Amino acid sequence: MKIGQLVKSHIKKIFLYCDTVNHDELIKLMDKKYSKNTFGINYPFCTESTLIPKNESKRYWTDLYFVRGKKVRVSSQWVINHTQQFTRYLVTRGITDQEKLEGLMDSHYAPSDNPRISTRLNSRYRGNAIGKAQNLLVRNILSNLGEESFNQDDWEKTKAYFENKCAYCGSEDELVIEHAVPINKVSLGEHRLGNMIPSCKACNSKKADKDFKIFLEGNQHRIGIIEEYMDSRDYVPLGENEQVAKILEMAYQEVAIVSKRYIEILNELFPNK
Ligand SMILES: [Zn+2]
Repeated sequence: MKIGQLVKSHIKKIFLYCDTVNHDELIKLMDKKYSKNTFGINYPFCTESTLIPKNESKRYWTDLYFVRGKKVRVSSQWVINHTQQFTRYLVTRGITDQEKLEGLMDSHYAPSDNPRISTRLNSRYRGNAIGKAQNLLVRNILSNLGEESFNQDDWEKTKAYFENKCAYCGSEDELVIEHAVPINKVSLGEHRLGNMIPSCKACNSKKADKDFKIFLEGNQHRIGIIEEYMDSRDYVPLGENEQVAKILEMAYQEVAIVSKRYIEILNELFPNK
């Protein structure tokens, strides 16, 4: 939903709020400065229709609303950068609730290029959730590419291929599933047959987010075995696929903006005092 639509779909609720909850609000919404401070827009949120200068008429939508004895029109001068302030206004005034808003704010909500978002000190909801959300999204996308799935039988066969030993060090300790090419936006590993190999827990935790070739640097023998295995399962790492990387980068950026927006809304709702 675009910002213009978002505003339009809340006008009646906002005026209902003026009519029933906060009787001073309409006067404020007709004030240019208040509107600037509250929403970032350069025109009053609404103006009495008879007071709109002719040359400014196109800055207002044509629909008329009757609020507290006045006939008003609402400014149409909204751009994407006003989204955050507008949604915050709705939530903090109780005009709509978070859940309804989330339903409207789908992925078509194009982010602004340069969101100015402050994360306050001592905020209850901190920004460190953002990196987690970003990584989760990228993992989720990469894990769901393709249609094949990896089941228990595949896992048993994979372990058998590596003679029930760690693919990195040859240990026979307990084996866990390891993604040779890690699933992140840099390495572009996937959760699919050929990229999942057995690893002892020690190697698994030491390797962490590294690519298997970097982790095994110098050990051409083991790198060769893993590559052979990938070939045998027709797994071709995405490698430096610019297109995929770009798409993931977009998703990565977008989720940061969405996360920040909601963290800020929540922080407004529950100041940590
Ligand atoms: Zn190992």
